Amino acid sequence: MKAIHLIFILLITTNLSSFASDSLNIINKKVSFGFAPNSNRNVNSVIVHSTFNNSGGEKYDIDLVLKQFSTYGVSAHYVIGRDGTIYQLVDEKDNSYHAGKSSLPDGTTNVNSCSIGIEIMTSYTESPTEEQTKALLNLINSIKKRHSIKYVLRHSDIAPVRKTDPWNFDWDAFKKRLEEQKNN
Ligand SMILES: [Zn+2]
Repeated sequence: MKAIHLIFILLITTNLSSFASDSLNIINKKVSFGFAPNSNRNVNSVIVHSTFNNSGGEKYDIDLVLKQFSTYGVSAHYVIGRDGTIYQLVDEKDNSYHAGKSSLPDGTTNVNSCSIGIEIMTSYTESPTEEQTKALLNLINSIKKRHSIKYVLRHSDIAPVRKTDPWNFDWDAFKKRLEEQKNN
């Protein structure tokens, strides 16, 4: 009886650890602003941004960040916290207002209609944490399984005159890791 118990515990522990390593920890934080329902869109791009709360209080508090988004009527599909927690704000099938006036390398200007926006919480002086970088890699890889992704770009790539985010981010190193994961 005790041996059976032990085997069960071992099985459960093994399953949990494998589950944790290849699944994403996504917290539902669906918002009522900053998006437009669109059940008929083709997603071909992922746009990476930076954000933090600069309206007073804890700068990396998800609820304060969302309050700020609400004030501006903007959103993103996902926000990644400093500890790597992924918050989902908008369904991937809907247009999130994250890109603004911008254009893709192929000339597409309505970027919100064909992209998924991901905000990583960083400030003007701090880089993403390793936990955030790993969560971003895993999230983009999972998005690639659901959509045919042509571009993974920074906000500054699609709106170079207006935008500088993501800040303090070694993009070349990140893209290299993304390539390596794809090949594994
Ligand atoms: Zn941005």
